[in-house]
Amino acid sequence: MRPYEDAKVGLLTHGLQYGTGCFEGIRGYWVPENGELYLMQLREHYERLAISAKILMMQLPLSIDELIEVTAELAARNRFDSDIYVRPCIFKSAEDVGVRLHNVPDAFAIIPIPFTRYLDVNEGLKAGVSSWRRADDSAAPPRAKITGLYVNSALAKSEAVANGYDEAILLSHDGHVSEGSAENIFLVRRGVLYTPDPSQNVLEGCTRRSILEIARDEFDLPVVERSIDRSELYGADELFFTGTAAGVLHIRSVDHRLIGDGTMGPITKRLSGFYERVVRGKERAYERWLTPTYSGRTVKA
Ligand code: PMP
Repeated sequence: MRPYEDAKVGLLTHGLQYGTGCFEGIRGYWVPENGELYLMQLREHYERLAISAKILMMQLPLSIDELIEVTAELAARNRFDSDIYVRPCIFKSAEDVGVRLHNVPDAFAIIPIPFTRYLDVNEGLKAGVSSWRRADDSAAPPRAKITGLYVNSALAKSEAVANGYDEAILLSHDGHVSEGSAENIFLVRRGVLYTPDPSQNVLEGCTRRSILEIARDEFDLPVVERSIDRSELYGADELFFTGTAAGVLHIRSVDHRLIGDGTMGPITKRLSGFYERVVRGKERAYERWLTPTYSGRTVKA
């Protein structure tokens, strides 16, 4: 563990030049009345990182259990008393020229920072379908959270903002709905919750998984994972994005078509409210998703 300023990488680092790295984004939720910082779904995030690393022929330096422990320890040593964002990353660290995955050493880091809001639009997001298609698994797999793949998201996001939208919705190569630039997407129609299945070139989001579980187990909602057409978005009763940074975010319009009456629908409201309670440690049954930072450790916030 060292100060951020002292952790340096060189300009020729493989991961920087070729995008050969992968990462996670994890949230920590500060609950002042408990004097506790809860790290959300560490196991799920590190399991996904292990798969991303495997795809890029890299090896995590520690077991999942050790990574969970180190992350909590790191957060505790920083004595955070605010929400935080944790960025673990593993990248090809050689400082030489030559694009490949084999025979390149890798390096690993975990960087925790105080959290600042990612997307802050209380009245709902204006989304636009991007002219950029989602990268296809046959070219570079979005199932892995690969550094270089975020060029795809960045192109879509900046185009969306330049066109007056808050966020982009990317279609996959065959024209079906895939996801937002850094969020999964959900659609509600006639009381059924739909989201693109994992073969639609989506990142299999940890928040997506929790929302599917909460919808089924807490609200008895039928959930369907299948390919979704662009025009189905326009006729949805409710639409929302999910993501670690964003949480549950309601979408008020797509391509200038209002979704429902534009306000947050009842199902989005219920799921979002419940999710907020879960991440702040207020739902007993879901404490298994939370790792406390301070309890059991000598360091206090
Ligand atoms: N899709 C993409 C492309 C993302 O970058 C993210 C954010 N990690 C998500 C979906 C949502 O995933 P999660 O819920 O695990 O944050």
